[in-house]
Amino acid sequence: MAIFKDIAGLRQWRQNLRGTLALVPTMGNLHDGHLALVKLAATRAEQVLVSIYVNPLQFGPQEDFANYPRTLDQDLQRLQEAGCQTVFTPDDGLMYPRGRQDISVVMPPRSLSTVLCGASRPGHFVGVCTVLNKLLHMASPEILVLGEKDYQQLRIVQQMLSDLNLNVQVLPGPLQREPDGLAYSSRNTFLSLAERQVAPLLAATLFDLARRSISGADVPGLAAAGRERLEQAGFLPDYLELRDGQSLRALTTPQPDARWFAAARLGQTRLIDNVIISG
Ligand code: AMP
Repeated sequence: MAIFKDIAGLRQWRQNLRGTLALVPTMGNLHDGHLALVKLAATRAEQVLVSIYVNPLQFGPQEDFANYPRTLDQDLQRLQEAGCQTVFTPDDGLMYPRGRQDISVVMPPRSLSTVLCGASRPGHFVGVCTVLNKLLHMASPEILVLGEKDYQQLRIVQQMLSDLNLNVQVLPGPLQREPDGLAYSSRNTFLSLAERQVAPLLAATLFDLARRSISGADVPGLAAAGRERLEQAGFLPDYLELRDGQSLRALTTPQPDARWFAAARLGQTRLIDNVIISG
């Protein structure tokens, strides 16, 4: 497995490459959700590049950047076993050689990026779009693989690529779940044993709301009931909302392509999830 740590080596490899390249950007601590994206990428491109970089620009000052799980050796092992051939592991000096205070950034559309996670994590999506632009310019892939676990991020990046005329096709990967329904996430490792038992209720609540979101359903009533259920189980919900899957506009009545979105804190851990309505 080739592991690139610098831009020059990566670009040289890219120049000599034949066939389509798919980039799977990650922050490491790889789980089965990440590996499903790698497998999906391999079905659509001859070459797959996985990047592993915990991007400080997308973390707020009170967030878990310092504690974010970093397990590079284990990640490389998992990628090798999964048949991945190429990995990019830049560090902060490579990504932000002039620091992060006074650099050019990419500002995504406000309508998509100031709602849901954007409301409680100001600047998060600027950090995401900026680092993705840098990775895209470094690796020049034809395909960018993103998971539906971070559905808001997926929509923002699709719009950003279109707005900035970047010639990259987004390949969305379905959200992967543990057998009990909990969405795979690197942050699940923060959950205590007791919290881990409670955590699947977030997905269960969303699936329940999705099932009940038939035409004429009382959406605010469903949301209030869902919040209460989560709070009673010990969650601190940040949001629980039905939104349009394209515009991310808040909805008061169900419509095709609507999704329930949730973020909630369980102890110290912030979990997010989303489920498309079935009605
Ligand atoms: P992260 O390492 O959390 O930044 O995630 C890297 C990529 O993996 C993003 O495109 C995520 O949406 C995706 N991802 C993370 N968890 C899952 C999951 N459970 N199912 C599908 N994709 C996921």
